[in-house]
Amino acid sequence: SDSHFPVPNCPSEVDYSFHYPYFFPKDAPPAPKPKVRFADVGCGFGGMLVSLSPLFPDTLMIGMELRDKAFLLLLFLSLSLSLFINYAEYFISFTRSAHQVTEYVKDRIQGLRATNPGQYNNISVVRTNSMKYIPNYFEKGQLLKMFFLFPDPHFKEKNHRRRVVSVQLLDEYAYVMEVGGIIYTVTDVEELGDWMKSCLEKHPLFEAVGEEEIKKDPVVKLLTSATEEGQKVARNEGQTFMAIYRRVASKED
Ligand code: SAM
Repeated sequence: SDSHFPVPNCPSEVDYSFHYPYFFPKDAPPAPKPKVRFADVGCGFGGMLVSLSPLFPDTLMIGMELRDKAFLLLLFLSLSLSLFINYAEYFISFTRSAHQVTEYVKDRIQGLRATNPGQYNNISVVRTNSMKYIPNYFEKGQLLKMFFLFPDPHFKEKNHRRRVVSVQLLDEYAYVMEVGGIIYTVTDVEELGDWMKSCLEKHPLFEAVGEEEIKKDPVVKLLTSATEEGQKVARNEGQTFMAIYRRVASKED
């Protein structure tokens, strides 16, 4: 159930000064408030945010993560076992602080801020169900980038409605994205890759980003290397399937 976490009624109710205190100084003169521009949907342990942060130090980014510790502890233990040495650091902090993954990501960000003064001030995380509450967090046209990295595949046909990319949900994503903004999706499950691509292809407000632009985009190589799931796939030399689409204008924009 969603009763474990607070849900804002609308974007103006979210206190972003709590997430990004550096960007909301208390004694600042009245001025337009900075807004979150990138969202990593289903961010897991937050590896993408941590990699993106220094690339776009003035851009506010947020991870959205639903599941609690039970599922993620299993995921985490399997990651730890598969490469204990590299994950030992996560293991120690996770077992010490055995709580929700969003709390873990918050701690990870606080730790990075403390050990790298002046950095990682632009990333944060919320625990929420992105399939229900995206419009509660973002206004129309607010987001420049949205990430869907290694989302859960939900193989059975009756569970396809649980997929985080669908034609219906793309209506919501199109609403919160600025014209010209980019949706990045990647998976190691070919069938899900085809599904995400076909949903984006069918949607009138998205068009495929060209090969040349994809090659030049520094964010693209992070899709398969920055997240914990991406690293697992890379270690197993698994294939990945990307779909990268741009929000295009509608008559109303
Ligand atoms: N993106 C991360 C990565 O690449 O390492 C995590 C991938 S993991 C397979 C999928 C994540 O999506 C899980 O952490 C899960 O809890 C989260 N998730 C699934 N449905 C969600 C929803 N409706 N809202 C927010 N997060 C969700």
